[in-house]
Amino acid sequence: SSVVGIDIGNSSSKIGVARARGVDIIANEVSNRQTPSLVSFGQKARAIGEAAATAQTSNFKNTIGSLKRLVGRTFQDPEVQEVEKTFINAELVDVKGEVGVKVRFANEQQVFSATQLMAMYLGKLRDTTSKELGGAGVSDVVLSTPLWFTDAQRRAMLDAAEIAGLNPLRLMNDTTATALGYGITKTDLPEADNPRNVVFCDIGHSSYQVAIVQFIKGQLTVLGTSADRNFGGRDFDRALLDHFAEEFKGKYKIDVKSNQKAVFRLAAGCERLKKVLSANAVAPLNVESIMEDIDASSQLKREEFEALIAPLLERVSAPLEAALTQSGLTKDEIHSIEMVGGSSRVPALKERISAFFGKPLSFTSNQDEAIARGCTLACATLSPVFRVRDFTVHDSTPYPIKVTWQPAPDVPDEDTELVVFQPNNPIPSTKILTFYRKENFDLEAHYAQPEMLPRGINPWIGKFSIKGVAPNPQGDHSIVKVKARLNLHGVLNFESAYTVEEVEKEEEVPIIDPTAMDTEGESKEPPKTEKKKVKKLVRKGDLTIVSGLSRDSSLLTEMKEKEGQMYSNDKLVIDTEDRKNALEETIYDQRSKLDDRYRPYVQAEEKEKYLALLNEQEEWLYSEEGEDATKSAYVERLEALNKLGKPIQFRYKENEERPKAASQLRESI
Ligand code: ATP
Ligand code: MG
Repeated sequence: SSVVGIDIGNSSSKIGVARARGVDIIANEVSNRQTPSLVSFGQKARAIGEAAATAQTSNFKNTIGSLKRLVGRTFQDPEVQEVEKTFINAELVDVKGEVGVKVRFANEQQVFSATQLMAMYLGKLRDTTSKELGGAGVSDVVLSTPLWFTDAQRRAMLDAAEIAGLNPLRLMNDTTATALGYGITKTDLPEADNPRNVVFCDIGHSSYQVAIVQFIKGQLTVLGTSADRNFGGRDFDRALLDHFAEEFKGKYKIDVKSNQKAVFRLAAGCERLKKVLSANAVAPLNVESIMEDIDASSQLKREEFEALIAPLLERVSAPLEAALTQSGLTKDEIHSIEMVGGSSRVPALKERISAFFGKPLSFTSNQDEAIARGCTLACATLSPVFRVRDFTVHDSTPYPIKVTWQPAPDVPDEDTELVVFQPNNPIPSTKILTFYRKENFDLEAHYAQPEMLPRGINPWIGKFSIKGVAPNPQGDHSIVKVKARLNLHGVLNFESAYTVEEVEKEEEVPIIDPTAMDTEGESKEPPKTEKKKVKKLVRKGDLTIVSGLSRDSSLLTEMKEKEGQMYSNDKLVIDTEDRKNALEETIYDQRSKLDDRYRPYVQAEEKEKYLALLNEQEEWLYSEEGEDATKSAYVERLEALNKLGKPIQFRYKENEERPKAASQLRESI
């Protein structure tokens, strides 16, 4: 099996594979090391990744980005309505409790949930990876998620992976993946008494994340994290777009914002300009036929850009401050600041972050590929395929989780809630809760500080019913233990529940007799024991946990089937197009050869017959029927041509190759 790590980015994803030599970031079908995070619905088939980026210009209404921003969220979610909607051209709708899109696909209105969209995209990344690995199956994978992803978002990612036939060994926080890649390659990490504290900043397309990580030899611990979920390259592009749209109102008398296609073109131009400004003091903007046949052009100075994004720049230090506070460290204790993510190239951001810490920044991790690299290393650690240098990762979750329950009528003074996982709690982590109950009861898990969550995310995580509880043999309360676990994905589960009983046991206990000891405390005589009654808790019956969380498995099966159908359909569309092209090529190729190289090997009558068929096929191919036929129709026609063509080709080959072989023989003598 293969070892794969994927950085799922909002603008593009990066795929790493582990090989004996190390981790490689792989290139896709057009040799890019990043694949656009887009899914496009066409008239016949879907186009995903690079193909979606190509289709986007002409089909932007049915081309969807922001996949990771939507996954696991609801349609009503204010952040979806107020923020994401402005970045998405398709109509957003509710799909069975999750946000989704309504698109025109295969000449029909169809809806797909965000989980389905993510699954489609993951399927494409899976195929890209498989191709790179020579067709090997791809299953085990570590996927990155923003550190601020909640339970619902993480579960949706896991569902999407499952629909795509992947087996996620871990969902790994972006910054933790970067930290792992940093730590595991360093040979000079200090001993435990003198740890190294590194700040990791990831500023990407849509969000800005900060983690403060402590390193010692063979180990990293996340001490503090924070994020601005709505801060990234797309916001800078938006500021530029607003500026130029305003400028063009006067300059060209056009309202760019009234025309979606024009907005799309201008946005692309703004992103290009922004990138140029990272390395130059001034940059040009050129957008050909932006609308009404106008070629728009302008330019911008870096200072002007910085003025446009001033409100965003004001927000740079808040996450740094918050992460630092959580870590309990002072700025002096920071060893270095590692910058990753495409937007970490913006000079104004670099200046602000550097100024905050009073230190120069480090760019030793690959800005675009560090996360994918870290995920791949994590996958290698978790998979049996490779033996990886031991490196322990103590990750953490930002959000505290509390568990609540109804008081039992006959248990006085019982609390009805408990914060089980604290802010910055390590993941994975297991906690055991104890209850005194005579009958079944429910637990409800909630995020304890809803104000920390992405707006609109329900703080209620889920309900778990503990079943099979009965009074103990004395008719009294049973002691029930429930194991809560934040797993490797950062997802909450109640893993197991069981009753314990207090039993009195007779045990042999050693008697300590000070009078029988010498001055060293060694006993001069053989040790004596005596029987003593002790109380012990022993595990009795296992209880059942019914989780209200596990997604309706029939829905998942349904989505898997639907994905399978669409996948085969896409493949059929591609194969059909391929056979159609093959037919066309054969017609032209054979006809020209009949008049040329095949001439000496073909009888007049035979030639006439073959030519007639070639002409007939050509006519059909350009008829309405031939333009849009089934794969088998093209294959049948190809076969019919081959039936006449093959004998001629054979004779030609025989005659051409025999003398060649003979001359080669002569040469070798
Ligand atoms: P996210 O992490 O938010 O999910 P992502 O991982 O896809 O998104 P990255 O690949 O880290 O994002 O960065 C992409 C962003 O970086 C884009 O907005 C892009 O315009 C921006 N970017 C890339 N190169 C430069 C540059 N030279 N100067 C400024 N911005 C840049
Ligand atoms: Mg990213």
